[in-house]
Amino acid sequence: MPPENIEPPAGLSGTETPKGRRICAWCKKDLGPAETEEDTHGMCDECKTKAFAQLAELKAEKEEAPAKNPPAEKE
Ligand SMILES: [Zn+2]
Repeated sequence: MPPENIEPPAGLSGTETPKGRRICAWCKKDLGPAETEEDTHGMCDECKTKAFAQLAELKAEKEEAPAKNPPAEKE
């Protein structure tokens, strides 16, 4: 019976680098290696800040503008 805890020979483990990259879906900035072998998309801090600022602006605009009443129904 072979021992259950078979360890890989030294030098083979810990040297592999992930092939995928994390890319910002907004500005295509390389965010570093991904944990998977495929490219993944994320959002860099810069774009996150911009997006949140835009969202806040949109929200402010919506809240400022008075809600328009729906057109009265004519019977
Ligand atoms: Zn970005």
